[in-house]
Amino acid sequence: LIKATNIKKNYRVGEIDVPALKGIDFEIEKSAFVAIVGPSGSGKSTMLNLIGCLDHPTSGKLLVHDTEVSKLSRNEAAAFRGEHLGFVFQDFNLVPVLTAYENVEYPLLMVRGWAESKRRERVMKILEAVGMADQAHKRPDQLSGGQKQRVAVARALVGEPKLVLADEPTANLDHDTAYRILNLMKQMRDESGTTFVFSTHDPKIMGEAEVTFILEDGVLSRQGAQQ
Ligand code: ATP
Ligand code: MG
Repeated sequence: LIKATNIKKNYRVGEIDVPALKGIDFEIEKSAFVAIVGPSGSGKSTMLNLIGCLDHPTSGKLLVHDTEVSKLSRNEAAAFRGEHLGFVFQDFNLVPVLTAYENVEYPLLMVRGWAESKRRERVMKILEAVGMADQAHKRPDQLSGGQKQRVAVARALVGEPKLVLADEPTANLDHDTAYRILNLMKQMRDESGTTFVFSTHDPKIMGEAEVTFILEDGVLSRQGAQQ
């Protein structure tokens, strides 16, 4: 489903190239439940952003759903994301002028011609699942960090994409709420065969994954089943 071959990513900062990924290889099977762990600055967000077609690798080959995403133009990448992906950003990226409800509804407006009543049902169901139904009318600046994070998770899941990429999706949540989100993701995997790839700092959350990728200073190793 996802196959990366010798992926390198350098960021240009002034005159120097900062290597964030130093030639990583990995494969992620359909319906996998995968954690990426590693210290701050090790390249977790960079790796998720590449899989999520938010940025291009400097070199290497990256296949997502049989598409070589490393070659997509900006517009093609946006269309690909809309069709296949849900993404939970580390810093949420909610639209500030929209309510929680409208933020979650947004992907449905973009990719599906659903009637208002059907959208409403789906949006409220997923907001309920993340425990945010009673806050649906609030804008992001009226929500706590953990509440914004749950809205961001709801927005990524609402369209039932085949692949969900989540950058530290439980970082701002208490233990019980973190497990609620994790269980929601697992349930969606079990029922719909969704593939989940998430990064985390939390060893307990990492323990819930079936496959773990460890990033250290831009170098990747794999732990767990299907070695
Ligand atoms: P954290 O756990 O703190 O979120 P991370 O593992 O997600 O860290 P990345 O954000 O992928 O790490 O960063 C990897 C490396 O790339 C770091 O050295 C970082 O400074 C650098 N980096 C990331 N984004 C950029 C950018 N836009 N421009 C320049 N350097 C960047
Ligand atoms: Mg990060």
